[in-house]
Amino acid sequence: MILGKPLNEDLRLRPIHYQWAYDLYNQAVANTWFPHEIALGEDLEDFKKMSEDEKHAVSFLMSFFNPSELIVNRSLALGVYPYLKAPETHLYLAKQMWEEANHSMAFEYVLETFPLDREKIFDSHLNAPSIKAKEDFILGFTARMTEVSLDVNSLEGKKDFVRNLIAYNIVMEGIWFYSGFMVALSFRQKQQLKNFGSMIDWVVRDESLHLKFGINLILTILEENPEIATPEFANEIRELIIKGAEMENDYNRDLFPRGIQGINAEYTNQYVQYVTDRRLEELGFEPHYHTANPAQWMAVETDTLELVNFFEVQNTNYEVDNRAH
Ligand code: MN
Ligand code: FE
Repeated sequence: MILGKPLNEDLRLRPIHYQWAYDLYNQAVANTWFPHEIALGEDLEDFKKMSEDEKHAVSFLMSFFNPSELIVNRSLALGVYPYLKAPETHLYLAKQMWEEANHSMAFEYVLETFPLDREKIFDSHLNAPSIKAKEDFILGFTARMTEVSLDVNSLEGKKDFVRNLIAYNIVMEGIWFYSGFMVALSFRQKQQLKNFGSMIDWVVRDESLHLKFGINLILTILEENPEIATPEFANEIRELIIKGAEMENDYNRDLFPRGIQGINAEYTNQYVQYVTDRRLEELGFEPHYHTANPAQWMAVETDTLELVNFFEVQNTNYEVDNRAH
């Protein structure tokens, strides 16, 4: 069983029980990169020529991304690592946590390089309601993982573990981050901020492994604990993911109050819907939005993973009318 308080008997790596976790660890190590390998300073001229609305978009992206890297680490440290028994999962999580720290340092490098108002950026993450709502949503699930009443071996405790996992991994890393990456990379589409774009490419490569790890972990836990894989819980998870996707509407309005050349809030919301459908499918659900990808230029392999079908068996019981939307 992968889920449970790790004991001394669990400090033994071999034989490896969860090969996917071990393979992801090795792949993650092979992906190691450092922010200063990128000549971000070369983008400074582009940045200076950008409109105020374009600069605001970069600044508002940083307001969300910078603390979010630290939030993911909090979720992993408090809500995931302490409740997994397999050492290969701990190897992977240690590397992921370093990657989140590295992303945090990469965004620090952005703040040091571009003339951005660090105080204003930090202030927005605390006070912009659309960012605060997202952070509170994630941290609410993480907070549950540190309550003394949590028993991860109980039915409800197992569900709490999965809820936290869905929140930080599927909603935050799998939907909100991908939307932010698309916006960040949209500048390169119009020949701006190319080095910043390369940095985001490297972050996306890391995040795609974080998502693979999270999805594999969700699947494994549901396989090993079939008592929680009920139609009711499946439906709750699906609703949680859709709620997370809907929260992005307000955020995208604040990101693009007027829209900039080539992209606006509506376009970004459509991408959120497209990515959300992919995440739902990756978990074995039916898509909810049926929205086409407005950003065809985003390479297919960066925003979708191969399908895994977990909830498939239970799926037929809770079909909802997607098109009434
Ligand atoms: Mn990250
Ligand atoms: Fe991540």
